[in-house]
Amino acid sequence: MSTENLEKVVLITGGSRGIGAACALLAARQGYKVCVNFASNEQAALDVVKDIENIGASAIAVKGDVANEADILHMFAETKSRLGLVTGLINNAGILSKEGRLDTFSAERIARIIAVNVTGSILCAREAVKAMSTKHGGKGGSIVNISSVAATLGGPNVYVDYAATKGAIDTFTKGLALEVATEDIRVNGVRPGIINTDIHASGGRPDRVEELKHLIPMQRGGSALEVAEVVLWLMSDAASYVTGTTVDVSGGR
Ligand code: NAP
Repeated sequence: MSTENLEKVVLITGGSRGIGAACALLAARQGYKVCVNFASNEQAALDVVKDIENIGASAIAVKGDVANEADILHMFAETKSRLGLVTGLINNAGILSKEGRLDTFSAERIARIIAVNVTGSILCAREAVKAMSTKHGGKGGSIVNISSVAATLGGPNVYVDYAATKGAIDTFTKGLALEVATEDIRVNGVRPGIINTDIHASGGRPDRVEELKHLIPMQRGGSALEVAEVVLWLMSDAASYVTGTTVDVSGGR
């Protein structure tokens, strides 16, 4: 179906920084009203909202941990009441942890990564399906799940737990896409490679892009905007016959 005549409203988890923030700005430029979800960095989220308002578009910032179901319900309710019925979800919020081998990882670390990256994405998609599905009286929409090339590489010696969560996301993208294919919802994924954002610092390696760029066929890291361009294309009517697939945005890696 075409979303051409629908008011476009997108909820972006982790929209305050990095790839999510780039998606938020690009979505606003393409006519979406944007809910910028953030976990703790309110100032960053408010800066994104301000940048969007400066180009004459509408946005709200909503705090919420995607590992918490009540927070997810709150962010969807806020989006509906302040911007309108959601027509797009970008499941972007994701975390990794310090690099290392599996035999050094705590149960808490592994559980947290799974809760944010997998359970959070699945619960957000559940709420999006309830809002969008023609089966539930909705008008359709599009979901894009942010995976990682780590899903195909496995992340040995750095973060096999994180990589496994992204493998789960790829499987979820395929399954959900098939489940809702006749309900005017398309579900796709994007697998970024090594992208210039803050996430590498949270893995204990702020210079990761420079250090590893020789492994990338294009010999450089990507920008958040280069990922956002593909995400927004998948969201758009230009991709109206594309569902259940995941696109690598990784400079060939
Ligand atoms: P980032 O720069 O670290 O930004 C992470 C964003 O997610 C922030 O907006 C953060 O909010 C939010 N967030 C973190 N935990 C959250 C939670 N529990 N609930 C809600 N929001 C949460 O990360 P990024 O590099 O842009 O990564 C975005 C996505 O791309 C992730 O799924 C990541 O796995 C994936 N990815 C990134 C790369 C890369 O090289 N950068 C490569 C492959 C895949 P606050 O601002 O409040 O902290």
